[in-house]
Amino acid sequence: MKQLLGLIGHPVKHSLSPWIHSKFLEKSNIEGMYTVFDISENELKDQLNKLRQKDIRGFNVTIPYKQKIIPLLDGLDQTAKEIGAVNTVSNINGKLIGFNTDGIGYLRSLQKEYPETLANKDIRILLIGAGGAARGIYYILNQSGYQSIDIANRTYKNAKSITSLKSSKVKSSILTLEEASELLGSYDLIIQTTNVGMKPNEALAPIRTSWINDATIVSDIIYQPIWTKLLQEAADRGARIHHGHTMLLYQASYSFEIWFGQSPLLEDMDTQLKQLLEG
Ligand code: NAP
Repeated sequence: MKQLLGLIGHPVKHSLSPWIHSKFLEKSNIEGMYTVFDISENELKDQLNKLRQKDIRGFNVTIPYKQKIIPLLDGLDQTAKEIGAVNTVSNINGKLIGFNTDGIGYLRSLQKEYPETLANKDIRILLIGAGGAARGIYYILNQSGYQSIDIANRTYKNAKSITSLKSSKVKSSILTLEEASELLGSYDLIIQTTNVGMKPNEALAPIRTSWINDATIVSDIIYQPIWTKLLQEAADRGARIHHGHTMLLYQASYSFEIWFGQSPLLEDMDTQLKQLLEG
């Protein structure tokens, strides 16, 4: 039977998910199709019912529906429930169940590149930003046992809301972006999750980089451009770099795993995706 997959959101026309999931299907020898559904908010409920009737295996959810879809679903897994956002839905015997793969996808992509550093749960981590993606990443780092995760964000209350996640076990300090800039040299891992530096504002960085040193891993989840200003400056200072497109690939891979119970072979997809993004 042909497996139906898709993406709902608005706008969705520039999404890379159809490219990624079509490759996953092909590599896994699964006959299927990944379709993009650009829907307006007042159509959301009806469209979900139509997708259910189409016997869709599962679909991804992007802006602006990651939170709005929650009351329309039949259930949530624990991660999506705690984060309060869904980016993957699985149709399990007619019930639509929501998941969030951002945090696990992020952590897997980082572990793949820097397994030794990530094996040490005592590393000092700085999370820059406190939006939806940061929330998912903080949750998973916390669940995975990392002991020290500070958050720097423009708006204090958004950072506070992340540290108040129900299952939070770590002690975290909340910093201004200015304070964090001064302390960059004291972190083993710096994770940038704001929109600052994203196309078409490539000339911007959310923090000053002068204190970054060569003992640090600097990770930016922005993938357009692949080389953000922050990553360029960090590389110039000798830091180890982690690019955002790898998170994109691994969070998609985890969605696929939820739908089919098997991981797709990623092989050279990291390089291919990078080339695609660099045009
Ligand atoms: P979001 O929920 O809207 O959060 C945006 C974050 O950026 C907030 O912390 C916000 O701070 C901060 N911010 C926005 N404009 C700012 C400015 N001018 N100065 C300082 N801080 C600013 O967005 P999101 O969904 O978390 O996504 C954030 C980024 O991650 C986007 O670039 C997105 O493309 C990328 N992303 C990548 C992947 C991947 O797979 N690689 C996955 C998800 C997201 P306040 O709290 O002060 O508003």
